[in-house]
Amino acid sequence: MREIPKAYQPQDVEDEIYKTWEDSGFFNPDNLPCAQEGKTPEKFVISMPPPNATGILHLGHASMLAYQDLMVRFNRLNQKQALWLPGTDHASIATQTKVEKIIADEGKTKYDLGREKFLERVHEYVEGSRGTIRNQVRKMGSSCDWSRERYTLDEGLSEVVKEVFEMMYKDGLIYRGDRIVNWCPRCESTLADDEVEYEEVQGKFYFFKYQKDFPITIATTRPETKLGDVAVAVNPKDERYKDFVGKAYKINLGNGEHEIKIIADRNVDMEFGTGALGVTPAHSMVDFQMAQENDLPIIKVIGEDGKMTAEAGKEYEGLTALEAREKIVQYFRDNGLMEKEEEVAQNLSVCYRCGATIEPLPSLQWFIDVNKKITKEGNKYFQDKSLKEVMLEVVGGGEEKIKIIPDRFEKTYFAWIENLRDWCISRQLWFGHRVPVWYCEDCGEIILNREEGEVCPKCSSEKIRQDSDTLDTWFSSGMWTFSTLMDKDFAKYKTFEEWMGGSADLKKFHPTSVMETGYDIIFFWVARMVLMTTYATGEIPFENVYLHGMLRDKEGKKMSKSLGNGIDPLEMIEKYGTDALRLSLIVGSAPGNDLKIYEEKIENYRNFVNKLWNVSRYILMSVREVKRVEIEPEAKTLADRWILGEIDWLIANVKYNLENFRFSAAGEDIYEFTWSKLADWYLEIAKVEGNKDEILLYILERLLIVLHPFAPFVTEETWKSFETGELLMVQKWPKIGTFIDKNVSEDFKLMQEVITNIRNIRAEYKIEPAKKVKVVIVSVNKKELIESQLEIIKFLGRAESLGVVNSFEKSEDMAMTVLLGVEIFVSLEGLVDMEKEKQNLLKEKENLEKFVKNLEAKFQNETFVSKAPAKIIEQEKSKLQESVEKLEKIEEKLGFLL
Ligand SMILES: [Zn+2]
Ligand SMILES: [Zn+2]
Repeated sequence: MREIPKAYQPQDVEDEIYKTWEDSGFFNPDNLPCAQEGKTPEKFVISMPPPNATGILHLGHASMLAYQDLMVRFNRLNQKQALWLPGTDHASIATQTKVEKIIADEGKTKYDLGREKFLERVHEYVEGSRGTIRNQVRKMGSSCDWSRERYTLDEGLSEVVKEVFEMMYKDGLIYRGDRIVNWCPRCESTLADDEVEYEEVQGKFYFFKYQKDFPITIATTRPETKLGDVAVAVNPKDERYKDFVGKAYKINLGNGEHEIKIIADRNVDMEFGTGALGVTPAHSMVDFQMAQENDLPIIKVIGEDGKMTAEAGKEYEGLTALEAREKIVQYFRDNGLMEKEEEVAQNLSVCYRCGATIEPLPSLQWFIDVNKKITKEGNKYFQDKSLKEVMLEVVGGGEEKIKIIPDRFEKTYFAWIENLRDWCISRQLWFGHRVPVWYCEDCGEIILNREEGEVCPKCSSEKIRQDSDTLDTWFSSGMWTFSTLMDKDFAKYKTFEEWMGGSADLKKFHPTSVMETGYDIIFFWVARMVLMTTYATGEIPFENVYLHGMLRDKEGKKMSKSLGNGIDPLEMIEKYGTDALRLSLIVGSAPGNDLKIYEEKIENYRNFVNKLWNVSRYILMSVREVKRVEIEPEAKTLADRWILGEIDWLIANVKYNLENFRFSAAGEDIYEFTWSKLADWYLEIAKVEGNKDEILLYILERLLIVLHPFAPFVTEETWKSFETGELLMVQKWPKIGTFIDKNVSEDFKLMQEVITNIRNIRAEYKIEPAKKVKVVIVSVNKKELIESQLEIIKFLGRAESLGVVNSFEKSEDMAMTVLLGVEIFVSLEGLVDMEKEKQNLLKEKENLEKFVKNLEAKFQNETFVSKAPAKIIEQEKSKLQESVEKLEKIEEKLGFLL
């Protein structure tokens, strides 16, 4: 007999098992049995959302890894050629900020080091942290193909970035323009619209006039920007201001005299403030638009450093915006220009990265035009279509369209795309893909795709400098699903098109099957992958998008550092094992819904893993010979037919649920089967009936395969006992047998209920487990069935005798219970003092009746009903309900005794 350790110790086996998997080569889909000998298997591909290069693994990563590995392992077992491609994102802002902090501790700034030296430091840092991430991904049991691991700043991926930039530039989709951008003075960079967060703060609404003779009062929350006003906009329908439209006034707020024009704009809200809007084109997106339409000048009074510029005038230059605000407010007050000041709640724009207040500023930036219609040869999507149109077209129901799960997020996606504006892709950072554009300092020529040392093609000047900005990180990660499939020896291709046509990996593995990510990243990333991929490749990036929910603590609160309610996945793995953590991250949440996770939950799944180990151990040590059972075993009894039907049902249902992204439901079914069906019932019955080797091995083998995608380590470890010389991870998903039978399920259920009822009576009268009871069962219809199961009922109900009769007269010292078509009598003679029991019940009844009466009186009392807090009334109501139910039970019990 094979010796199997009593307890499962994940810490002792996990690393070794992972190494065996990795060494087997099966993480690489080219090596899978299904891909051999000229077969053309279906493929299943996931591009792992690349964790930031700064990262250490947090619970969010652990969750995404658990879901993705589950899908990949399930599809691999189903003989698909499964590729899970891992990697990391360089994450410009996050990584640069981190390294800036590190060198600040050394008393230096990035300017002290210079661009080149600074970037060396960043790369050094990234090398270290990528190693940490790799190890943590392995810890989660992730079966990803390390031989294809990529990094967004890889040479190959950078080449793709340059190519696609040039392509878009030539198609007129990338342009450079003066635009109002979201500027973070702290990060010294622009932010995309969706990188701006809003914070509600208490502010002030100031009502003032530029000067005494100015006819219109203006309201603003940011008086310091008024130094840059060039117009006042009113609604053309507004009777109050009609006569002023078209006029111009000279004003001087201390920064020189300039003109304020009164313009009409139908977007001005007549009800808001005074109905008149001071137009500040340099510091508001809306005002910038108005200035363009009305040909107004732009006065930039706040600079990139967040301080007032020279154009704000001598008195203000160099002050922070807040200092300038105080000063100009005082000026309005002192000169009798302030009409009133009101407290107001306002939404302040802040940087999602550092929390600093965002300044909208005009700046020369690179943009992607989302509205320009283009026709692109060989691209089925771009035939006189804009990026925006294609992004709307490829998502939703139907053939060759991207499906978003759960589908309620499709609406969110569409709403966002409808409001999409041109995408600002340049960032004032050093770390990242440098904008692949060069400028000739002599003739101003813009040069793309320049080789080192090349002179200006127009004037042959050598004075050429590269754009100092880098590209938004999402520009490169938007290409993640296909750029990662770029051959490592990409130099052999001369053009992008040649690569597209020549790459075996791209042909085989793109589009990918599933993009699994959090719903919070749908715009940042999912939408941008749709944009970049349809444009560059003419393919959708993925067929399905599965959005998982956010992780919350036991009380449903978001996990955060400040609340201190976070859970460290590595600590949990150390304590409870990886399988327990994976199960607790998957089971207990519907797609897209938030998932609660806390230590007791993980502990509970550790107990489940132990249960599985014990069940397996019992089976493997009790059978005469451990071997695989390929054909359906013979079922001799009702219990055999039932459990074989149950495993068939489990195999089918788990497959169905996993194919339909219902991961939690699939996990719950396996849990239920293992614990409540196999362990609690069948193994117990097997002890009575005996001789079940074939069936037990048949079931165990299948259970291990079905559970493997959820809990890969304990299943692989247990599988070793079969000594097949093969890994569980590359077995075949079991075929469904022939045992599913509704009648068998119903018969077995009746027997379970008979036993459960006998057990309940025993528990109710506190009969010690060692004492056996006499049972009589009355049934006409089910007599034969019950008689065939007598031995099992006796054993599991702990009965010394059991009779099945057509009718029976109940005697005094018997308890009885009724189920559908069956009456069960349990003799309590000699086990329970009937008289004492009766007295106890009568006393309990009397107490309960008093209690109920009092409560009922309370509810008749109008003062109580009208004055008591709703919560108290709720509590009292449920108390009443409980007591009434209890009373009914006692009366029923007394009925049997009297
Ligand atoms: Zn910032
Ligand atoms: Zn030139």
